[in-house]
Amino acid sequence: MTQAHYRVDGDVAVVIMDNPPVNGLGFALRSGIVEGLQRALADPAVKAIVLTGSDKAFSGGADIREFNSPKALAEPNLGSVIAMIESAGKPVVAAVAGLALGGGNELALGCHYRVGRGGAQIGLPEVNLGILPGAGGTQRLPRVVGAARALEMIVTGNPIRSEEAARLGYFERLVDGDLVAGAVAFAREVVAGGAKRPRIRDRAVSAESMPGGAEAFFEAARERIARDYRGYPAPLKCLEAVEASVKKPFDEGIQLERRLFSELVETTESKALRHSFFGERAASKIPDIPEETPTRPVRSAAVIGAGTMGGGITMNFLNAGIPVTLLEMKQDALDRGVATIRRNYENTAKKGRMTAEQVEQRMALVKPTLAYADIAQADIVVEAVFEDMAVKQKVFEQLDATMKPGAILASNTSTLDVDRIAGFTKRPQDVIGTHFFSPANVMRLLEIVRGKATAKDVLATTMALSKKIRKLGVVSGVCDGFIGNRMIEQYSRQAGFLLEEGCTPQQVDRAIESFGFAMGPFRMGDLAGNDVGWYIRKRRYQEKPDLRYSRTADLLCEMGRYGQKTGAGWYDYKPGDRTAHPSKAVDDMIAAERGRLGLAARAVSDDEIVHRLLFALVNEGAQLLEEGIALRASDIDMVYLAGYGFPRYRGGPMFYADTVGLAKVVEIMKGFAANPNADPTFWTPAPLLARLAAQGKRFNG
Ligand code: NAD
Repeated sequence: MTQAHYRVDGDVAVVIMDNPPVNGLGFALRSGIVEGLQRALADPAVKAIVLTGSDKAFSGGADIREFNSPKALAEPNLGSVIAMIESAGKPVVAAVAGLALGGGNELALGCHYRVGRGGAQIGLPEVNLGILPGAGGTQRLPRVVGAARALEMIVTGNPIRSEEAARLGYFERLVDGDLVAGAVAFAREVVAGGAKRPRIRDRAVSAESMPGGAEAFFEAARERIARDYRGYPAPLKCLEAVEASVKKPFDEGIQLERRLFSELVETTESKALRHSFFGERAASKIPDIPEETPTRPVRSAAVIGAGTMGGGITMNFLNAGIPVTLLEMKQDALDRGVATIRRNYENTAKKGRMTAEQVEQRMALVKPTLAYADIAQADIVVEAVFEDMAVKQKVFEQLDATMKPGAILASNTSTLDVDRIAGFTKRPQDVIGTHFFSPANVMRLLEIVRGKATAKDVLATTMALSKKIRKLGVVSGVCDGFIGNRMIEQYSRQAGFLLEEGCTPQQVDRAIESFGFAMGPFRMGDLAGNDVGWYIRKRRYQEKPDLRYSRTADLLCEMGRYGQKTGAGWYDYKPGDRTAHPSKAVDDMIAAERGRLGLAARAVSDDEIVHRLLFALVNEGAQLLEEGIALRASDIDMVYLAGYGFPRYRGGPMFYADTVGLAKVVEIMKGFAANPNADPTFWTPAPLLARLAAQGKRFNG
């Protein structure tokens, strides 16, 4: 079965790529293109060739189903296809609609001419996978759009629209209406004009595209990229390749591109980014819920509680065009909540990312209310009231009495037992956890908590809804804290022990931030409010009186230091300024607690800090996997990448442990267990970790 169709329109042959959904350039499609070209070149009646795809995609690039398989490189590989087109004895015109990304864009750049349809997206997003374009993109694109623009496109991976591409000279012509007819007409003009076959490789990169000259331009760019992409090796290699397009002959540039590509593919960072790419796709697959599981329509929503989370959750629905009835207990809380939503949108508008009209359109979709009767007809209701089981009970009993049959009853609880919450209703099958992350309108993660009784279609609907509101949905089973917060508890406990042993909050934060975390545990606590964790610990540790943890965080709250909102937390803050300043009062409190424990302060290395914090996550993650709370190791990694500021280029905690080697992880943990201040049970490897380590295996396959 060929994936490229062939037809002849008078003296022009048309080769049509047909590998849905986006014409991924797999082996079969590449072979099909070559067959079509050969046929056209062999037919004396054919004077020119048009290569095209579908309305949706010229081509979205490499076929991801072929990733990591030898088929990706099998002849004809993409480089050979492009070389064949470029050296063809008849002019080849690319007719581009929809996506021309990665290898798809490189294929178009191999053609002698490009004709495009408005609204198409042209880009080289390889950098997002920690690699660079490997089929000539870094050498041809600068020769077309100039060094500065090409560098930006290749380093950011962001595509441009065909209108801009045409302005930059990428397209010879933009066509309204029938693209292929327009491209065929264009091809005929080329034939009439002498059938010239200009090759991009023969052009030079325009000097005007490098303000201040090539040397100064690349030097400034190198500095900027090194600063902006700390931890990511690919962007600087992209620069090296683009620089070669200016300074070296074409063939040498291509060789360099190929070498850099091969080097990057082997880096841990690229492997981590590819892990994240596939991990995101895997997260939407739930073994006992086939893709064709029916879903319930979600055309309207209700949110209970207009506080920090309720407001952000409401915005997600509004952004997706889903009307929301927002319910509060008291009018002033309701007014405050609605005003905050408006202010958020207006701030976005001020930054030019939204029009005033769009602000009004979104606000028109919110209906504030104090009455349960007003939410009865909503298709889904998300509860975001205080984290208190008694309050949740009242709310869910009310929802059970009010909501229409079939409505989905969701709770945004961050730690509480979703099965118990479901038990407050007579319809536990309709209850599910939807755990958003703060700020809920910004953070991509949505933990979807599947209760014992949650119906399959409720889970399937919630997964589909997460996509609709542009979240990454990851399924978790029911337990205290679900995947993310159950693991972070162990991380926080370690952070506390580190203080007892001699670290300052700033030393711990600095160490883990140098590892790549967006924010260390103490700056994070100050941002989120230390009282939140305090409240949770009171409940949790009452149930486990023997569990050892550092009291420093409780003592901090007893001092009234809740964080930025009270102007003081682990750090001091000046009014109206979020800059964290070390605090003498906190240092004294920690020293006093250390004294009470009879510990002498010791110097703790940054390595020890990082490993203790990370392996605390990893060990609990292994436990979650064994218990089946998390379906797969990559789900845990996705939770940490999308919800906890874990550095993307490290792939998540479980992937990181795999890169260290699980046997080595266990060995380092043994060393930590020998620390006199260590909780004797803390560093016992989870059975799954111990087993995989002994077998020389990894968490992620
Ligand atoms: P919040 O205190 O900012 O807001 C809670 C709101 O609920 C308040 O406006 C309150 O007036 C309202 N409320 C309380 N009882 C109500 C009732 N019976 N009916 C209607 N409204 C009621 O709290 P928050 O930070 O938004 O947290 C809400 C939920 O989200 C909690 O379960 C919390 O654990 C969870 N959560 C919080 C975060 C976070 O970072 N803040 C993150 C994830 C999940």
